Amino acid sequence: MRTLAVVGRVLEGFDGSGQPIWHDGMVVEEGRVAYLGPHPEERAGPGAEVVEVGEGVVLPGFTDSHAHLASLGLALRTLDLRGVRSIRELKRRVAEKAGELGPGEWVVGRGWDQELFEEGRWPTRWDLDEAAPGNPVVLVRVCGHAAVANTLALSLAGITDSTPDPPGGSIERAGGRVTGVLKEAAVQLVLSAARRGGVEELVREAERAMLSSGVTCVHAMSVDREELEALRNLARSGKLKLRVRAYLDPEAPEPKPESWGTLKVVGLKVIADGSFGARTAALREPYSDDPGNAGVLLADRGALSRLLEKAGRAGLQLAVHAIGDRALEEVLAAAKASGARLRVEHASLAPPDLLDELAELGLWVSAQPRFVVSDWWIISRLGRERARWAYPFKSFLERGISLSFSSDAPVEPCNPFEGVYAAVARGSLEGLEIAELTAREALTPAEAIRCYTETAPKLLGERLGRLSAGYPADFVIVDRDPLSAPAKELRNVRVLATYVGGELAIRSN
Ligand SMILES: [Zn+2]
Repeated sequence: MRTLAVVGRVLEGFDGSGQPIWHDGMVVEEGRVAYLGPHPEERAGPGAEVVEVGEGVVLPGFTDSHAHLASLGLALRTLDLRGVRSIRELKRRVAEKAGELGPGEWVVGRGWDQELFEEGRWPTRWDLDEAAPGNPVVLVRVCGHAAVANTLALSLAGITDSTPDPPGGSIERAGGRVTGVLKEAAVQLVLSAARRGGVEELVREAERAMLSSGVTCVHAMSVDREELEALRNLARSGKLKLRVRAYLDPEAPEPKPESWGTLKVVGLKVIADGSFGARTAALREPYSDDPGNAGVLLADRGALSRLLEKAGRAGLQLAVHAIGDRALEEVLAAAKASGARLRVEHASLAPPDLLDELAELGLWVSAQPRFVVSDWWIISRLGRERARWAYPFKSFLERGISLSFSSDAPVEPCNPFEGVYAAVARGSLEGLEIAELTAREALTPAEAIRCYTETAPKLLGERLGRLSAGYPADFVIVDRDPLSAPAKELRNVRVLATYVGGELAIRSN
């Protein structure tokens, strides 16, 4: 393995009081940080590869502590068909994508609306067969409740003229023949076939996006059997450069810790409530804009205790999705009863009594700073008084709660600088009311970057997220110093190159 002499400013990490530790260079040997300080070329000796950082800086690689790889891959691959004006144009776009992907690959699109089509009719399987005869194609309507698939896609999903309608869905027919138009539950038949077809490709697509955003490790959530199989294959064959820590579906048969190269199975993930957007996050008091509704609790303390026990027996961590304060209460009660530590995913609404308890029980929180900007309607959902405790990042840190940052991609873009920006600006540059209401929860760029690098590896007891001597050389070269950049510039920080274990994983041009 080549020795690297990294010439330029290097952020090792942060000291105990959160101050950044800078160096004038770094030497990497055998994939690990060997030296930090001036004149790395001299230290590294002849034969070392010199990496010039130039005007930019080197940062520790980011860990995205909550993302969905296969879904991100699917979202990245999906053809955006919003605003398409005719079936002719639809066909052209499908043919283009099929050419780009190559024969046999699934073409998945979303966003078409037949109301806009100049032909004045719905598209059919025969339209799509003309556009891409050698590719399975499925295009979901703008509403998500209908889709059209071509003949190859229908046959891969096992749909023939004699297939009965699935419960809660319909397979449209004309003169007894399937037209390719699917409604409600029938849409899923073809989408699951699309996912089965190429999970490995989807994971690789997501990996490319993560690496080019500066992410060197992902905590992959809700990994199902197919995604795990794809990750295993990629890790075993040495193709997976991104470090992946997998949290499996709780229904996974006989889950256990496993590890292959860059991949480790470390936990189970369960969902305790819904989301604010859908008004399904479980609240102590009803929604301010829907007085009869306090959301949906999907797992109570009893169910969570049993899962904690199951995870503990298997030697795995438990990660629990809890967005509303009511759901968080149940998580805290379960953790208290069992005395086990667990991760809370989101913890989006955490009033002071629950913050105190989180700190006391030493639970880990994985939060998504970009939600602050995306959930621009949060004050109408929660009312001003409660919304004060939405996404209380500074309060987490002040209480010594382990707070790691993540994207929940594809829900939010996987670029960590979007998250850093949102944690620092909190919607102030978008003019959101929440920015003012929760101004004291804003973080500094250093605090936000620390939550995105150092914290998540710690909760797995891993030596990652810093560039101290002996640590794996997972690092990114960015075009400017984000610690001194003004808030509005943070989202424009560009990643020039990403290294994992001292190897160049991706370079952007
Ligand atoms: Zn998620």
